[in-house]
Amino acid sequence: MDKMPPVYSPEEIDRLKKSDRTLIWHPFTQMKEYAGEDAPIIAAGEGCYLTDISGRRYLDGISSLWVTVHGHRVPALDRAIQEQLRKIAHSTLLGLGNVPSILLAERLVEIAPSGLERVFYSDNGSTGVEIALKIAFQYWHNTGVPEKKRFLSFYNAYHGDTLGAVGVGGSELFHSIYGPLVVSSLKVPSAYCYRCPYGGPGPQECGRECFDAVTRMIDRHAGELAAVIIEPVIQGAAGMLTWPQGYLSHLRKLCDTYGILLIADEVATGFGRTGRLFACEHEGVSPDLMVVAKGITGGYLPLAATLTSKRIFDAFYAEYEELKTFFHGHTYTGNPLACAAALANLSLFEEEAVLERLRPKIKRLEELLHDFMELPHVGDIRQAGFMVGIELVKDKKTKAPFPLARRTGRRVILKAREKGVIIRPLGDVLVLMPPLVIPEEDLRRLCAVVAESIREAAG
Ligand SMILES: *Cc1c(COP(=O)(O)O)cnc(C)c1O
Repeated sequence: MDKMPPVYSPEEIDRLKKSDRTLIWHPFTQMKEYAGEDAPIIAAGEGCYLTDISGRRYLDGISSLWVTVHGHRVPALDRAIQEQLRKIAHSTLLGLGNVPSILLAERLVEIAPSGLERVFYSDNGSTGVEIALKIAFQYWHNTGVPEKKRFLSFYNAYHGDTLGAVGVGGSELFHSIYGPLVVSSLKVPSAYCYRCPYGGPGPQECGRECFDAVTRMIDRHAGELAAVIIEPVIQGAAGMLTWPQGYLSHLRKLCDTYGILLIADEVATGFGRTGRLFACEHEGVSPDLMVVAKGITGGYLPLAATLTSKRIFDAFYAEYEELKTFFHGHTYTGNPLACAAALANLSLFEEEAVLERLRPKIKRLEELLHDFMELPHVGDIRQAGFMVGIELVKDKKTKAPFPLARRTGRRVILKAREKGVIIRPLGDVLVLMPPLVIPEEDLRRLCAVVAESIREAAG
């Protein structure tokens, strides 16, 4: 019985749908569109599938917004939370410790890139980023270099929606309106190779102009720069823009040479998404600060962690009256239930050999995506492990985009939803981000439905 999805009467369904549209202001959503589209209301999930209140099942093609790792209703994760519930649901880290937060910190330090030895908890990616920015800023203040107070970030970057994170964000669409509210960072173009900002011919004959551009920027501004913040290997919310090989290690070298901290925002890429536990591992890079969130609890509960080095931690370690304390914290910092879920998530990575089993599936996905280039209006396909962006364009030859008002990406995902697959667009880039444990047949179905939906709805 306990596995049956809940059943709702037609009256209850009507009421839930109406209240969803009239009472809830959905994130990143034009509510005028939402009001007209009869979005499913999810009532249950199992493995890689979601079930709505009418009993319809959908393949979860975006891991419930990039978080689900082992699927939904994973017995080991359910159990870990239930067991923790029998002890305590919440206790604060302000002046007290709690057991799951300690055990998780031990594990995180073990698995993180070398040198990351201190853990500051918060509850979402944006706050994790705020913490990294504030620590970097205060590090230079505490060590007597207060003129190093600016950040360098990238065009198209997405680091979250709180104002500090928006200041280092680089999305015109999301961020420009808030310009007057934020301290803006220095910005350098990112590697949108399909539309190379330096007019390069594309990855095949790349002159690595973007490497030189960031070098010049850092050379010019090193004296005032506290830190550089980057989404390693792939810029996610920008539309899945993959960095050229070697860019991250180039940046690490520059930061070392010029005495600038490197912040890796692994909120999206962490916990296996790109095929390694952390994306920094692809280039053997250890950042000075690393932010993780999304996949940390396997997609169960909100939790984030900002990891840093002993050297940075030590710059805050002083007599109270020196005022070097990091005055920052959130009410639910280090929540025991979330930490228990995260511990169980990490155990599953080992017990189920998730990364080993993922490797052939990444390859398979790459093969499946190969055929997409034949589809009308597919301009570019970008992939880093299980993070995929398919860019739709009006004209493949000129790369001319569709007009904004046409809402092409949205049309395609609505078509896919009719066919029982949930995906989300970023503008006219379709995002595929299935749970890491998705069986191969579901992976094939995901790609088949998306291809059909492009054929039927993009043109
Ligand atoms: C999602 C995301 C964030 C923000 O995380 P929230 O939990 O939504 O606040 C920050 N950085 C990156 C790279 C992300 O993908």
